[in-house]
Amino acid sequence: MKKILNFIGGNFREAKTGDFIEITEPATGQPYAILPRSGKEDVDEAVVSAESAFEEWKRTSLSERAGYLRKIGDLIEEQLEELSVSESIDNGKPLKLARSVDIPRAAANFRFFADAITQFSSESHEMPDEAINYTLRQPIGTVACISPWNLPLYLFSWKIAPALAAGNCVVGKPSEVTPMTAYLLSQIVMDSGLPPGVLNIVHGLGGEVGQELISHRGVKAVSFTGGTETGKKIASVVAPQFKKMSLELGGKNPTLIFADCNYEKTLSAVLKSAFANQGQICLCGSRILIEDKIYDKFKKDFVERAGKLVVGDPVLPDTQLGAVVSKDHMNKILGHIKTAEKEGGKVLCGGQRIKVDGRCKKGYFIAPTVIEGLSQECSTNQDEIFGPVVTIAPFSSDKEALEMANGTSYGLATSIWTQNLSRAHKLSAELDFGIIWVNCWLLRDLRTPFGGMKNSGMGREGGLEALRFFTEPKNVCIKY
Ligand code: NDP
Repeated sequence: MKKILNFIGGNFREAKTGDFIEITEPATGQPYAILPRSGKEDVDEAVVSAESAFEEWKRTSLSERAGYLRKIGDLIEEQLEELSVSESIDNGKPLKLARSVDIPRAAANFRFFADAITQFSSESHEMPDEAINYTLRQPIGTVACISPWNLPLYLFSWKIAPALAAGNCVVGKPSEVTPMTAYLLSQIVMDSGLPPGVLNIVHGLGGEVGQELISHRGVKAVSFTGGTETGKKIASVVAPQFKKMSLELGGKNPTLIFADCNYEKTLSAVLKSAFANQGQICLCGSRILIEDKIYDKFKKDFVERAGKLVVGDPVLPDTQLGAVVSKDHMNKILGHIKTAEKEGGKVLCGGQRIKVDGRCKKGYFIAPTVIEGLSQECSTNQDEIFGPVVTIAPFSSDKEALEMANGTSYGLATSIWTQNLSRAHKLSAELDFGIIWVNCWLLRDLRTPFGGMKNSGMGREGGLEALRFFTEPKNVCIKY
């Protein structure tokens, strides 16, 4: 059994209680590691460490801070293989996905914010009556960064990097389901020479250590990515304390396919947007809306291609879908498929657990599932399933497509597939989603605002938005 430890004040430690939690490899269903079941005392210690590191860290020059972040990015890249294998074991995702997306992006996050902080500037406003205002943007202090299990190191680093770049000290809590690469990151951070206490990582259950962290008086801001229900709970604790808060939550993203799309490119990209990472990306398109003129053809081709996707051992090079993250999650997804059938949905392919031979015979695999015949109002089309399950439905006009797409309480991401530029612009302006892709999906420029509307969250990450979140603006008005 591998043993994960907390990283507090530059030291590796067990939880004060000495308790551990066991975690399981989703592809095999076998326990393979233990992590500290941390609580209040561990959070207290991490916050004290962060507070004592803050005075010096906030005065560290921008180029020095950037240097540490670049070094961390370089070390992640040097350890690409070990980190990719660990991410794949921990999460069940195909190794080649971890190698090509998750880990390179974690390195890119550190490098991006290393550069961004050296280019970050604040505003000044001159007044006609001989006065000038300028805005100081100062680090906040100790901030909490809480991340989910679907893109473990990718999303953890997406929060930590801007927080550190802006001069804050961090107490991070990765998901208890996938803590391994956060632990490996703490070793990398130690090797980078980052001063002790600047980054602390505590492991354990969300309802225990996570709850202690967000409630702690020493924590000045909370950056959270996870489910909408957890986001509500967090907001109910954080808002009355008037801490800064950023919430990146769930989605139920529509994919709008018009008859004039570039058919082959659309088909391949939509398949990816539906099933990448077993459909466990908050940006995956799970409601596929297709113009009626091409509905039958698209349905036939899409279902055929979905049925041919290779589901299996994440380490094998041909595997396109690995295991879903846990037994509980697998059962939840299978439950959603049953509900879809009860609601009158017809399963066109998949719909069941897959048994994989050999070392993965007890793993949590689900066949890519396509369902049709459901209204947009039913729970299958309203609730986030977060697995390899999509619905397809026809529409007959732009207006209908827009109404169907917007008919959800979520507002994270959408993609539009058309060659008609005016339609793309018009729909983009009217779709209630924070992220809109036209003829592409998951094409990311790290400078752009990232986040959702409605029940998909509050605030934006990415580029200068993240640096603004992790700093406190202070206006200074000077009369000449
Ligand atoms: P959860 O909301 O269950 O958990 C997210 C994190 O919060 C975990 O680290 C969890 O710890 C922790 N947590 C749980 N309860 C509390 C609490 N009371 N106080 C503090 N922390 C807590 O999400 P999942 O991990 O299941 O991730 C999947 C969800 O994340 C999906 O809804 C998905 O859409 C969303 N997501 C959103 C993204 C976005 O950018 N908008 C990106 C990626 C995912 P523990 O694991 O120990 O419970």
